[in-house]
Amino acid sequence: MAGCPSCGSADKHGSQSGPFSTGRELVEFVCSAHDGTVKDQLIDDGGYETTCQGCNASFTLTTFVGKCPKCGGVHAIAPVHKSAEHIQFAGKDFVLS
Ligand SMILES: [Zn+2]
Repeated sequence: MAGCPSCGSADKHGSQSGPFSTGRELVEFVCSAHDGTVKDQLIDDGGYETTCQGCNASFTLTTFVGKCPKCGGVHAIAPVHKSAEHIQFAGKDFVLS
């Protein structure tokens, strides 16, 4: 199956968003990648330690799309990236569907 977010190719996703998008665009991209099967997958090695970009609470992102346990802020990282610095924040008013 082409257009996998793990391979870095964005040209099969039908829009300009892709694994190198930022902010909400990236979060929405990961949410919809592979019909929504990517977002709940566990990240290798237990996930990434990060700081919530909404409330500054520390938490561990264990799936490719995850929420801050304190404020519920939605964060995501594309599987193609391998470090916490690539985690994107969807914004305070974003709610997972
Ligand atoms: Zn938070």
